[in-house]
Amino acid sequence: MSSQVRPQLEPAPTAPQATVPRATTAVQICEVGPRDGLQSVARTLATPLKLAWIDALYAAGLRQIEVTSFVPARLMPQLADAAEVVRHARTQPGLKVLALAPNLKGVQAAAAAGAHAVTVPLSATEAHSQANLRKPIAQAVAELRQIVAWRNAEAPSLHIDAGISVAFGCSIQGPVPQDDVMRLAHALAQAGADSVGVADTTGYANPAQVRRMYLRLFAEIGNADNPVRPGLCGGAHVHNTRGLGLANCLAAYDVGVRTFDSSLAGLGGCPHAPGASGNVVTEDLVFMFEAMGLATGIDVQALMAARAPLAEGLPGEPLYGMTPLAGVPKGYAPASAVAA
Ligand SMILES: [Zn+2]
Repeated sequence: MSSQVRPQLEPAPTAPQATVPRATTAVQICEVGPRDGLQSVARTLATPLKLAWIDALYAAGLRQIEVTSFVPARLMPQLADAAEVVRHARTQPGLKVLALAPNLKGVQAAAAAGAHAVTVPLSATEAHSQANLRKPIAQAVAELRQIVAWRNAEAPSLHIDAGISVAFGCSIQGPVPQDDVMRLAHALAQAGADSVGVADTTGYANPAQVRRMYLRLFAEIGNADNPVRPGLCGGAHVHNTRGLGLANCLAAYDVGVRTFDSSLAGLGGCPHAPGASGNVVTEDLVFMFEAMGLATGIDVQALMAARAPLAEGLPGEPLYGMTPLAGVPKGYAPASAVAA
């Protein structure tokens, strides 16, 4: 598919490569289970198991992991080890270490620990902004501007991603007009965010809505994963609350999204939707793309093995996903050529 001329061959790397080089992946998977998943689980995964989990995800081929959130430990004791987790993740060569932080203090702590990128969450609705961040949207945008100013002065290499929560529907307000999302996306672009993402926090999205949303975002603020004309809109972040996670990711792929957030075993869930998983399941998402011939650089068998620290540290926690239950089909030929 690529018509690019390969550069002169470089000397072979000395360390064995677990997966195909990044440059040849067709889609990027960003594992968010250690943040989005664990923040939704009341129990705490012990730090050594958390680190072992991240290592296992890396070994499976993941090269982008959102490892934690920098929030006060009294609000989220599950993630009180945030700095230690980031420092550990940074020891894995070539791993892009992402964190979430809701304010400047959190961004500063994430930068001090060594995160490459921080997602700052904002809400598409005033109701969710008040409930989740305890501030109006305008104030959250103003704070993002301050965060960017601090970054420019003190941590120039830190990537600031603005993440718009409840962009496809809000469990408090209900439907969210696309115009509201676009107005906020433009405001965040103006405030200096390096990328702007939309999240289906509540699992309300459907594929037609996903298509409309990304087509408009790409038209107005551009696509971060478009190598020809890069822009600001980042990857897809969908939840599988109503079983449409894969369908929504495929709809996003079809209109040009190339980075996808997902969580191993669909860890997480929603207290308001019993039985619902959290983010789209990484194992199923990787299987879908690999089976379609779209390389992720991730070995789905190794991914399933990466569930072990979760099963050990959170016994009884539901682990979702269909591919781990059924196994890969006979004759399965993944797009990513995995070296022995
Ligand atoms: Zn989420």
